[in-house]
Amino acid sequence: MSMNNQGRPTGIGEATASNVKTFTGNKALQIEEGLSFEIGSYAQTGVDLPEPKGGADRLGGLNRNNDIGLPGLSEPETMRHFVRLSQKNYAIDMGPFPLGSCTMKHNPRLNEKMARLPGFGDLHPLAPESAVQGALELIDTLAFWLKELTGMPAVAMSPKAGAHGELCGMMAIKAALEARGEAGKRKRVLAPESAHGTNPATAVQCGFTVENIPADKTGRVDLEALKAKLGDDIAGIMVTNPNTCGLFERDIRAIADAVHEAGGYFYCDGANFNAIAGKVRPGDLGVDAMHINLHKTFSTPHGGGGPGSGPTVLSEALAPFAPVPYVICEDGKYSLVETRRAAKAEGESAESFGRLTAFHGQMGMFVRALSYMMSHGKDGVRQASEDAVLNANYVLARLKAEMTPAFEGHCMHEALFDDRFLKDTGVETIDFAKAMIDEGYHPMTMYFPLVVHGAMLIEPTESESKRELDLFCGAMLSLAKRAKAGEAESFKAAPVYAPRRRLDETAAARHPVLRWTPAQKAEAAE
Ligand SMILES: *Cc1c(COP(=O)(O)O)cnc(C)c1O
Repeated sequence: MSMNNQGRPTGIGEATASNVKTFTGNKALQIEEGLSFEIGSYAQTGVDLPEPKGGADRLGGLNRNNDIGLPGLSEPETMRHFVRLSQKNYAIDMGPFPLGSCTMKHNPRLNEKMARLPGFGDLHPLAPESAVQGALELIDTLAFWLKELTGMPAVAMSPKAGAHGELCGMMAIKAALEARGEAGKRKRVLAPESAHGTNPATAVQCGFTVENIPADKTGRVDLEALKAKLGDDIAGIMVTNPNTCGLFERDIRAIADAVHEAGGYFYCDGANFNAIAGKVRPGDLGVDAMHINLHKTFSTPHGGGGPGSGPTVLSEALAPFAPVPYVICEDGKYSLVETRRAAKAEGESAESFGRLTAFHGQMGMFVRALSYMMSHGKDGVRQASEDAVLNANYVLARLKAEMTPAFEGHCMHEALFDDRFLKDTGVETIDFAKAMIDEGYHPMTMYFPLVVHGAMLIEPTESESKRELDLFCGAMLSLAKRAKAGEAESFKAAPVYAPRRRLDETAAARHPVLRWTPAQKAEAAE
């Protein structure tokens, strides 16, 4: 009986599975599945509907007279179709999801249960305020804790993602500059080279020009170089802390002071709040605006790219420009401030910059985030941050044996490696990542941050147990050893166990096929 590396029997004989071509295309429990358009037909349906009776033609002869072309499947076929597709997904409920910068943590089931309570789940955004007092109270309570955790006086709850929160913060900065009569003069925004791509994109979207702040050799903002770029044309800076190299910006206070002295504002990208929540209050660091990704730090799911939620905390200087609507409580009664003028305090020139989104934000995410906060408590939130940092340092310490950390010293919540350990092996970061798929892991973030060659950014989060981390580190160390032992060819072929091998992602992005036609099946196969 042969055994696998985990010491479990695999059956009699050595496996040669990767070479077996099955008639069905299935790989045992990995069932091959076509598109619903390929396997279904218009004539087939899972339900019996009565033929509509009567009904005068009211379309003036514009009725469709050919088939609509939608696929139909029976009920069991429909179930199988979607279950089979779902099994091709990797999910945080399946295993570690070490994507750096994304904070893929466990989504506690309690949160889901709370979000499904009919009083929250069945809300309509246009329901009268008197009918949704509990929901408004929940938004207000969550806002309170976000302000408490960040030490900031105000928070805009409506942004629907981190990038949307950046937009909110930068629009508030722009509105503040306009109120000062300096919007025409202050056009420059500084951002480190390691910044998440959304930072410069947001600044440009708001009409600013972006300039890079160089990093010093420890991977942090070079304070002197930053100071040299400041002047009376500076609108502000956008700095991530902990930064995208997984390092705490030690000079953060000095950075904030220098920018304020130059008359600019400090936007902090708070996507990495999971490393410091409950430990550090960004308000104490001189931050003027910061988005918090509820879908990262506060465990709400990042399902299929959304829905996210990016509440943005604002300093006293920016609070008057916060977007509408927002919740207020007077005499125990909650209401929404919906108009820009209502936000204007007597005798002030400051005014809300307006509406960022149709309604109040992502209610389902608010419920989940508050459920996470209340079940953890303040000490629990702090402990989660500590454990996230501990886990990342455990991974860093173990992987150092075979891989090359990009910077010296401890990290915060994510461990960053470069590709020096792969030098002369013929294996590149992308090959290493593809080989991880065969080991059953979603690859880490690769080639980001851009300042590190062949970057591999690993963020285990606090969700992982030591047993899971040991298995993960074992797999990573084994891959590194294999690469160094000259197994480049097998890396270039990876993944071999996945439903699909390597796809031409560039072609897919440049020439997306958005509409299926029968002819394209043959084309794709060529
Ligand atoms: C995730 C992330 C963002 C963007 O957040 P989204 O919710 O994906 O829009 C911005 N900056 C950093 C550093 C991030 O990690």
